[in-house]
Amino acid sequence: MGVNCRDADDLMSAVVDGEVVGRALGEFEEHIGRCRSCRVGLELEKITKRTVTKHLQPVAAPQSIVDAILNSIASAQAMRRGQKGRNWHIPVLHTFRPVVLIPAAAALVLAVAAIILFRPEVLRIGRGKASADVLTAAIRNYDSLRLGTAPLEFVSRDPDSVKDFLRGKVDFRANVPILDSYHLVGAGVTSYCGVQCAEVLYRRDMVFVYMLQMNRLEVCRSSTEAVPLPVTASIDRGEWYLGNNGDSSGVVVWVNGEILCFAVAGMDEKVL
Ligand SMILES: [Zn+2]
Repeated sequence: MGVNCRDADDLMSAVVDGEVVGRALGEFEEHIGRCRSCRVGLELEKITKRTVTKHLQPVAAPQSIVDAILNSIASAQAMRRGQKGRNWHIPVLHTFRPVVLIPAAAALVLAVAAIILFRPEVLRIGRGKASADVLTAAIRNYDSLRLGTAPLEFVSRDPDSVKDFLRGKVDFRANVPILDSYHLVGAGVTSYCGVQCAEVLYRRDMVFVYMLQMNRLEVCRSSTEAVPLPVTASIDRGEWYLGNNGDSSGVVVWVNGEILCFAVAGMDEKVL
């Protein structure tokens, strides 16, 4: 039996590390020879490893955002418990052409996420390409909250009070996760194309994490262009979508049951 895409994904990291030899390597190479997507994945893995090796020290400093991302990854993992034997697939947005990146270890996810968020020269979103979609809206909301131009409706450090505040204002049970080393700032309700969305803000010093949550079916019904295609493609595959806003913020999109969740995080340039 040959190697399929999933086997190739699983082997990718070990192959780059030179840990795969003999027949397994032969079968892997045979698959890579005929599968463009895995070939791209392998190249990306090599680039990632090189970049990680070169930049791990500089990017290791802003641990806070990395923690926040790992936290959201952990909660999505919990939600996906039951989908057995599936690795995370983290599609990385590169000028709106998503490339599937399959890190072999959580450590690599962490490093990759840190690089994407803090090394914007590595990967960029073509800014302004998606004009009025919900991803852009999430980034704008994050910016206006961060800059203080749109204050939150409800300020509290207590997750239960925040949940109480959101209950009844949105037609789903909003997630208010606890992020290590961050404190909850509060919550608000915003509307996108008539769909009520919950927003939750976290903060550590000048570093913010903004979560936007909405009923996935409703937002897709509201407009065919609400969710950009690369995001839809990723979440339909049960994958994570990870993008960079081209400056100092990054976006992660995932689905939690009926809820479509966006997390935008970034750093003040001075902190950076
Ligand atoms: Zn393949």
